Amino acid sequence: MTDSCVSPAADSRSLSAAAARDRMVAEVTPITGHTFVPVRDALGRILAAEIIAPYDVPAHDNSAMDGYAVNFASLAAEGETRLTVVGTAFAGKAFSGIVGAGQALRIMTGAVLPGGADTVIVQEVTRVEEGAVWVPAGQRQGQNTRHAGEDLARGQVALAAGKLIGPAELGLIASLGLGEVAVKRRLRVAFFSTGDELASIGQPLAPGEIYDSNRYTLHGLLTKLGAEIVDMGVVPDRPEALEAALVEAAANADAIITTGGVSVGEADFIKQVLAKLGEVRFWKLNIKPGRPMAFGKVGKAWLFGLPGNPVAVMVSYTQFALDALHRMSGLDPLPVRPLLTVPAANAIRKQAGRREYLRGQVVAVDGHFAVKTIGNQGSGVLRSMSEANCFIVLPEDNAGVQAGEPVTVELFAGVY
Ligand code: AMP
Ligand code: MG
Repeated sequence: MTDSCVSPAADSRSLSAAAARDRMVAEVTPITGHTFVPVRDALGRILAAEIIAPYDVPAHDNSAMDGYAVNFASLAAEGETRLTVVGTAFAGKAFSGIVGAGQALRIMTGAVLPGGADTVIVQEVTRVEEGAVWVPAGQRQGQNTRHAGEDLARGQVALAAGKLIGPAELGLIASLGLGEVAVKRRLRVAFFSTGDELASIGQPLAPGEIYDSNRYTLHGLLTKLGAEIVDMGVVPDRPEALEAALVEAAANADAIITTGGVSVGEADFIKQVLAKLGEVRFWKLNIKPGRPMAFGKVGKAWLFGLPGNPVAVMVSYTQFALDALHRMSGLDPLPVRPLLTVPAANAIRKQAGRREYLRGQVVAVDGHFAVKTIGNQGSGVLRSMSEANCFIVLPEDNAGVQAGEPVTVELFAGVY
């Protein structure tokens, strides 16, 4: 493939969506710096160092069921076996004796398996009489027991560095008795909207103005990412103002996200300002929506110059910026984003030659899933993102879809 990462002077070629994403991920590097937080506060953070299990989890062999602990050798191969009950073990209250031949111990789930016992009989299949229990044939040696270290063995890597800490990890860390964990510092992301037409909430709209929505969408996206956000407001379409804003952003953040001004209009100054300030490439991605995009460095900060149209912002963010931001944050490995194949509920018109991200809604029809397109697919129609629950991703060579034909979708859930 030819090098389609082009300089501002020769930006007419198109870069494929996959190539753009890969290039961004490859160029950025994880930030350094970590902090210690109490376990609960680690939710949504990224582990800065691996956690080694300091001891076995569970710490002892124990019972997986309520029933009777026995030595398998005590059981007759056929018919019932009568065993003498020698005591009771509770979770947290072990039986100190040994279970001998012809004996059984009443045992509760989680109770330590006593010496001499290797098998647990669930109470439901037993028959109890004064001081004894009858066990039917057909038991398996070792059944209904859990072994020390079967969840985590002492010395084993319980969680690797770079792991996103979710609910399961909080519990796992707690199961090791750890009160604090080292997490990566949060990625600092500065962002601003560009455009003379943008009014801020609380101001009445002058003729031709619209309220700035991108900054709020980005607030949501970046908060969900777990970033520390620096909201720099709206910057007018003047080169000096853009330059000042970019210099300030670069001094305060690991990454900068701008929206608008990356196209070829007469008020699109981002390009000329960036040519002066940093090493930034302008891409025309062969996708819809979200064709123009800037990526590169201003000072030490990575810049993601997203388009202005609100839907295009969300497409470029999720499809291109997000994985690079994940990598910068220290997430390792990058999350797998499953693509599902479902039949289209309706026909879809499309031109071959570019990848399209349509807003879709996966719905259940008679117990089967299908995806329908949201009515207005305009890149300025943010309502389509709100009504949708997925992108329908139509590849470059697709030239239209008929109802019932399988298409690829990426569910929003788990992506942003
Ligand atoms: P631009 O790329 O700057 O030409 O913007 C493309 C379209 O997106 C124009 O219709 C803009 O008015 C609109 N737009 C740009 N920024 C925003 C924003 N922050 N909020 C809502 N719409 C925007
Ligand atoms: Mg603009």
